[in-house]
Amino acid sequence: MGGAWPEVVILGGGFGGLAAARVLERARVPYLLLDARNHHLFQPLLYQVATGFLEGPAVAYPLRALLRRGRFLLGRVERVDLEGKRLLLEGGDALPYRFLVVATGSLPSDLGVPGVREHALFLKTLGQALRVRYRLLEALEKAARRGRPLDLLVVGGGPTGVELAGALAEFLRYTLPRDFPEVPAGTVTLLEAGPRLLSAFRPALGRYAEGALAQLGVRVRLGAQVAEVGEGWVRLSGGERLKGDLVLWAVGVRGNPLPGLPADARGRVPTDPCLRLVGYPEVYVVGDLNGLGFPQLAPVALQQGRWAARNLLRALREQDPLPFRYRDRGQLAVIGRNRAVAELWGLGVAGLPAWLLWAFVHLRELVGFRNRLLVFLDWAYTYLFREPGVRILPD
Ligand SMILES: Cc1cc2nc3c(=O)[nH]c(=O)nc-3n(C[C@H](O)[C@H](O)[C@H](O)COP(=O)(O)OP(=O)(O)OC[C@H]3O[C@@H](n4cnc5c(N)ncnc54)[C@H](O)[C@@H]3O)c2cc1C
Repeated sequence: MGGAWPEVVILGGGFGGLAAARVLERARVPYLLLDARNHHLFQPLLYQVATGFLEGPAVAYPLRALLRRGRFLLGRVERVDLEGKRLLLEGGDALPYRFLVVATGSLPSDLGVPGVREHALFLKTLGQALRVRYRLLEALEKAARRGRPLDLLVVGGGPTGVELAGALAEFLRYTLPRDFPEVPAGTVTLLEAGPRLLSAFRPALGRYAEGALAQLGVRVRLGAQVAEVGEGWVRLSGGERLKGDLVLWAVGVRGNPLPGLPADARGRVPTDPCLRLVGYPEVYVVGDLNGLGFPQLAPVALQQGRWAARNLLRALREQDPLPFRYRDRGQLAVIGRNRAVAELWGLGVAGLPAWLLWAFVHLRELVGFRNRLLVFLDWAYTYLFREPGVRILPD
């Protein structure tokens, strides 16, 4: 590759990679940020893009615009050559590094269930969120032609599944009668294999979520394990077949390791407590990809990104690295337009106060003032006028 590139390379401009970049910016250390896409994506609000409550650009921010001292390179890394200290890029280029922070995140996991890859919809990238939205609008137009209701299936009762099911129920409740008066009221069914929703939260909050979703009209089915997905249906492990115009897969993720990196069964890369790849102290692994066993959440990625960059700065000064300490500030999940559940400092909170907290945290964490403003305005508009945003199908 032409030109001299910085010898500190951050691979991935998501939560972890960007947090590392910001530490290096402040320390005035030159670095290269490499990503297969040119934007940072705020995944926690993707479900709102999928359901038309937010526009795509509001949750994405161009990476180049975020860098001051760093350089950006658009490219997909195909392999890490640990011995040669090089990244091998799609198209044949090789990029040398002296220090590397790997933050390539995670990929949706199909858990080995047949038919998921072919027939279910995922929610991990901006493209996938827009695809859900278009498929939803197409399915509604089809339902309108035939005058029959729309049945939507959401698989996975974790935060993403709960948020998606709540937003879809509101979409059907508020958009359907206005734009599609000829379509009879549809159903949203949330399928969870375990005995309760939001298993990472305390049981009372899972029960609250179940009740709140039921009020929005969502049918919650617990102990419903999906064994196969086909075009327009899912089969449960007991043999029951459920019809679904769309099947949305929100079951979980696995690490996104690159060829050349060691990975465990969940696709996560083992590191020492200082976030360094075992045997390769010049390589740090952070976020969803890190195999230390922390939850795959944005705050973990942010804190690990910062921590790895600080350890990298220590290495540049020939100081010993420090073991990572996670400051758990709790977790949040939203249900519809004004309710949420929150678990903070050992306390469980539900309802409107949790929703206000959720809204505040998400606005604060969004990257870029423009995006905060866009999200705020979109929310204010849809909440006041009960009307989701763009409902245009592409040509
Ligand atoms: C729908 C959804 C909702 C979520 N909601 C929440 C929530 O409410 N709260 C919460 O805390 N967490 C939530 N999360 C999880 C959170 O988004 C992740 O934990 C976080 O994004 C992990 O950060 P990361 O830096 O490890 O990876 P990411 O943020 O995913 O970034 C990975 C980056 O690496 C790049 N990349 C990947 N492979 C390559 C390659 N081969 N070459 C070059 N670049 C590459 C990608 O383009 C991407 O920019 C949600 C996730 C999803 C999918």
